[in-house]
Amino acid sequence: MISISKPVITNKDIRDVSAVLKSGMLIQGPKVKKLEEKFAKYCKTKYAIAVNNGTAALHTSLYALGIKQGDEVITTPFTFVATANSILMQNAKVIFADIDEESFNLSASEIEKQITKNTKAILPVSLYGRPFDQKINQLAKKYNLKVVEDAAQSIGASRNREKSGNLADISTFSLYATKNIMSAEGGMITTNNHELAELCRRFRHHGQSEQTRYQYHDIGYNYRLTDIQAAIGLNQIAKLEKITDKRNENAKKLSEGLKKIPGIIIPNIPKNMRHAFHQYTIRITPTFKLTRDELKEYMAQNGIITGIYYPKPLHLHPHFEKFGYKEGQFPVAEKLAKEVLSIPVHPLLTKKELTKIIEIINNASKKRNA
Ligand SMILES: *Cc1c(COP(=O)(O)O)cnc(C)c1O
Repeated sequence: MISISKPVITNKDIRDVSAVLKSGMLIQGPKVKKLEEKFAKYCKTKYAIAVNNGTAALHTSLYALGIKQGDEVITTPFTFVATANSILMQNAKVIFADIDEESFNLSASEIEKQITKNTKAILPVSLYGRPFDQKINQLAKKYNLKVVEDAAQSIGASRNREKSGNLADISTFSLYATKNIMSAEGGMITTNNHELAELCRRFRHHGQSEQTRYQYHDIGYNYRLTDIQAAIGLNQIAKLEKITDKRNENAKKLSEGLKKIPGIIIPNIPKNMRHAFHQYTIRITPTFKLTRDELKEYMAQNGIITGIYYPKPLHLHPHFEKFGYKEGQFPVAEKLAKEVLSIPVHPLLTKKELTKIIEIINNASKKRNA
């Protein structure tokens, strides 16, 4: 069976976790501090703040930017629910804008149509590991808006040699078990702004500043990361370059094997970008012999597990429909949700497994319609 993701866990991880347990320094101790330093260094940002998951990182970032009730934050409907939920956690309004067909990411021109006097921030997702569009930064400048990058899937990616995590006012990562690098659960925030960094540190720690405990300035949460998790994260970030290179190598092989198949659209990588290939996502268009769901089933029968990220855009779920969203409002997101299929690209794939994936999809393309 070829799985869609596989965490890389070594004996060193097990030894390092044991060492933390024996040390007695369990929460937000030296390992967490070290992990923050490594993240900031990797992304070339001034600050990195660890939290306990990617959703907490998003919530904390929006708090730090001062997002509050009555504010509008523009984001993509083609993402994991946590992106939009973080806006609701600050009692602000989720404003969706449609995505771009080629990048799967928010379209700057669609965002512009949604800007009002209440718009405070844009929350693009660097989906599948592809950095969000630079035009969004220009738009934010023009309208004096903040940009928060949801970089949960794009650690290791870059745009014009700037790392994902350093493309916005503030950025958030997830270290969940299936992400490109992980700490079982975990999250990270990166920024170059000292004040934002301080607000994030306070928010994750019950609203107490780290220098003066038991002084409460504003609401806070318990979003702390443990040193047990940070020990795993440290070993992972040390391997990040290798992991990202391997994912790109695998993606290249897949693209070479799939590019000539009629009805399949392979991912495009602009010259100025390094993709992180959290997912390698193809589009199964109507000219392909099978439907997307038939291909998924056929691959599963042949031992290849695939994923659909995401089967339904957020605005079509009851959770968001109650805000007045309707079918037909974001046609590109709605169309892509029916076409996307993510196939294994993870760094532990063997050459033989990659060849098999390509072969099975080629076989499927030659199947007769029933
Ligand atoms: C994984 C993910 C999150 C949430 O991260 P958690 O660590 O699971 O809370 C948010 N946004 C996107 C795009 C994700 O892929």
